[in-house]
Parts: sequence; C-alpha cells; structure tokens
Amino acid sequence: MLAFVYDALPSRVVFGAGSLDKLFDEARRLGAHRALVLCTPEQRAMGADIAGRLGAHSVGVFDGAVMHVPGEVAAAARDKARKLEADCCVAIGGGSTTGLAKAIALTSELPILAIPTTYAGSEMTPIWGLTEGGVKKTGRDLRVLPKTVIYDPVLTLSLPVAMSVTSGINAIAHCVEALYARDANPIISLIAEEGIRALAGSLREIAKRSDDLEARSSALYGAWLGGVSLGSVGMALHHKLCHTLGGTFNLPHAETHAVVLPHAVAYNASAASDAMERVARALGARSAAEGLYDLAASLGAPVSLEALGMTRDQLDRAADLAVQNAYYNPRPITRDGIRTLLEDAFDGRRPR
Ligand code: NAD
Repeated sequence: MLAFVYDALPSRVVFGAGSLDKLFDEARRLGAHRALVLCTPEQRAMGADIAGRLGAHSVGVFDGAVMHVPGEVAAAARDKARKLEADCCVAIGGGSTTGLAKAIALTSELPILAIPTTYAGSEMTPIWGLTEGGVKKTGRDLRVLPKTVIYDPVLTLSLPVAMSVTSGINAIAHCVEALYARDANPIISLIAEEGIRALAGSLREIAKRSDDLEARSSALYGAWLGGVSLGSVGMALHHKLCHTLGGTFNLPHAETHAVVLPHAVAYNASAASDAMERVARALGARSAAEGLYDLAASLGAPVSLEALGMTRDQLDRAADLAVQNAYYNPRPITRDGIRTLLEDAFDGRRPR
C-alpha cells in the first residue's frame, strides 16, 4: 500500500537548444548584478563567453575548478567571490564546477545559476562535497541547490563520446538507485524510469554520431531526471561503493560508476524486484543487471575495475572499507557479498 513523503526541490529549469541566449534575463531575474563565473581550466573559453554574455553584470571568471572540490580551491574561489563582492555564482561545466559553486554557496549563501555541460546531475541536488586532507566529506543543504538551471544541449556537443557515455551511465545510476531508495516515492520513480529510458536510447545514438542534437537533447533531459532523482531520495550500495573506491584508490568518477553499476544492481536484484523490472523495462532488456552491463559494453565504456587502474590486492581493503559504516541498502550488506561483487567488477564479468 502507498505511503510516502514527497518534497519538491525549489529550482527553476530552462531547457532547450539555444536556451543559453536566455542567460542575461535569467541572471537578472535572480537579481544578479555582480556575477562570478566559474569553470575548469579546460572550459576557460566557455567561461569567458558566459562573462561576455553577462557584460557589466559579471565581475570576473574563476577558472580553477577541479574534480572533488579540494579545500584550497574552494578557499581561493570563496576569497575571490568576497573580494569582488559577487552577488551570484554562474557555474558552467560538469559536476566539478557546480561543486565549486556549491562550496561558495555553503558559506556565503550566494545564489547559483548552473549551466551543466555533462550528465552528472549535481545542478539538481542540494548535495555538496569538499575534499580536505584527502578525505571527501559530503552533506545536504538547501542553500547549495542552484536557483536556476539552464540546460542547453548545444553545450554538450563538445563532450567527447567516451565521456558522454560514462557521464550518462553516472546519471542512469542515480535513476536506478532512486527506484529502490528507502524513501522512494511514486513521482520520483516515474522520473527515474523515464530518465533511464531517455539516457539509454540517446547514448546509443550519441555513440554513433556525437553531433546528433536530437540525441544530445534527449540525453540532457535524462540527465536532468537523473539529477532530480539523486537530489530527491537517498542512494544506496552503488553510490557508497563508488564514493569509497573513488576516494581511496583515486579512481575516475564517471568511469567507476559505469563499471560498478551492473554489479551493485546484481547484488540488489533479489531484494528489489519491482525496481529491477522497471530498470529492465526502461532498457528494453531481459534483466536489469545484464541490460546495464550490455549497455555499457556496447557503448565502449570500461567494464572492469582493472581497466581503471585498480589492482587485485586492493580488493580486500576496498571490501573492508565498504562495510565499515552502516547505511541503507535493500539487501543487507555483508563483507563476503561485497568482496564477491568487487571481484566480479574487477574482472569485468557479465552478471547473471
Ligand atoms: P567534471 O565536471 O569533472 O568534468 C570532467 C572534464 O570534462 C573537465 O575537464 C571538464 O572541463 C570537461 N567538460 C565538461 N563538460 C564538457 C563539454 N561539454 N565539452 C568538453 N569538455 C567538457 O566531470 P563530472 O563527471 O560532470 O563531475 C564529476 C564530479 O561531480 C565529481 O567530483 C562528483 O563527485 C561530482 N558530482 C556531484 C554531485 C552532487 O550532487 N553533489 C552529483 C554528481 C557528481
């Protein structure tokens, strides 16, 4: 019988090819007169373009965003925002850039206007992350949820196919775990299933033709749904494992998601049959875990932890760390179960 609590997240979404042209009006709508633009060094040109579009309403560009928001980078960006008396952060880029804007918002409450260029989904979540002394801390705080998000698929045309695929599977992972979340609810489950469908279909097209704007639009739509799923309900084994593996063994974020997802899903299959049916249906596959593995393999994504640079002798430590703190998962977490899962993921075995 249905019983749930549903909180809608308060953010404004402007979606569509060419919607970046609405940036100036959207920034004004937020009351931004002194926006600080954030980007990575690789996306400096995009950052400069954004500052140009904002004209006199931009006070500068901070182009030092890097993966996992190191404390010193957050401190430098906060310092620049304070010195320039910024009244808004405009973040153009992937999860790393959005994450930096969130670090600024966490201590200053500056509103964020996010312009995502990957499928990671951070722009739709109140989740922040900060890495201090090699340890990544995360938390939830509504102050870091971007107030406005502009999704323009034209900006994703430059995302290389390999990154599009792994980033897209990262978004699928948000949807999958939302379907078996402890606090799952019918609206987010609809969103999550639709997200998997949109992403799986569009990634297959993008792998064939990376400049297919229709497919890019559908993938970004799926990424939005993935972000909403991640931001709205709690995640489980898959996200915890990826966090542990990424943080401890310095594995790449999106690629780790691509490798681990089919195995985390296989682990949970017997304890979340309704979610599994929905995942399989969205993929057009016989089973969720096999379908996810086949999707990743057919798109050329890495399928083994070994391919990401992990070594077999690290698996025991990874298993120990993964069971250290208790957290919700549909199937109880056991050390032996996780060790087997990790071995399968290390070897890149197709789940059965
Ligand atoms: P990223 O932001 O680190 O970007 C990876 C690289 O791709 C960067 O060099 C970037 O400049 C480049 N890039 C981005 N878009 C591009 C484009 N359109 N064309 C060409 N190059 C482009 O990668 P990501 O996977 O988006 O983000 C990963 C980070 O985000 C991790 O730290 C992860 O923990 C975090 N994250 C946080 C949340 C959250 O809710 N807080 C959600 C998802 C991910």
